[in-house]
Amino acid sequence: MVERRITGFRQDPEQHWIAELECGHSQHVRHTPPWEVRPWVLTLEGRAGRLGTLLPCRQCDDLQRVARAGAMMDETRIREFLERLGKALTSGDVEGIAKCWEVPALVLSDEGSVAVSAVSQVATFFAGAVEWYRSEGLVATRPVLQRVERLSEKLSDVDVRWLAFDVEGKEKAAEYSHYILHLGEDGLPYIRLALTRTADAS
Ligand SMILES: [Zn+2]
Repeated sequence: MVERRITGFRQDPEQHWIAELECGHSQHVRHTPPWEVRPWVLTLEGRAGRLGTLLPCRQCDDLQRVARAGAMMDETRIREFLERLGKALTSGDVEGIAKCWEVPALVLSDEGSVAVSAVSQVATFFAGAVEWYRSEGLVATRPVLQRVERLSEKLSDVDVRWLAFDVEGKEKAAEYSHYILHLGEDGLPYIRLALTRTADAS
């Protein structure tokens, strides 16, 4: 439970005492023996003596729990998305890869930017990439999520290390991708901006 300092006291309409906390929340500090025993709350000196001391704040605790749950759900969703993309890349499922994109999207590189205005363009591009992977003897790729930064309600900035394996399961190569993902109407993330990093983000 999150603890907050008491900054003051006030009474509710039933004359029960409420502690005001530094976070702006407040909490009842009743003296209702035998259930709650706080004789100190009844005197001015008793209350003054508790100023600056800590009380657990349920409201802050709830807020933190909600924030944590939200962040976790986001990351879980992103991991699932990357797994799906990895499987599509591994099986050469060009349509599956294309379904991970939302258009218009942008592919950035040192050479400049390519605007992707149709999902079919993604399919064409990755058909070439899949062929190249195969020619290099790479048969599987697996994502390692390195960093997620939430940019806004529906945008996340993501760094991924793509591990590539040969037919014997030996790790052959790693690529680093940077994506900006957009949360679509269906609640799933989609790539809206992609670039290949030549440096490890970690
Ligand atoms: Zn609080």
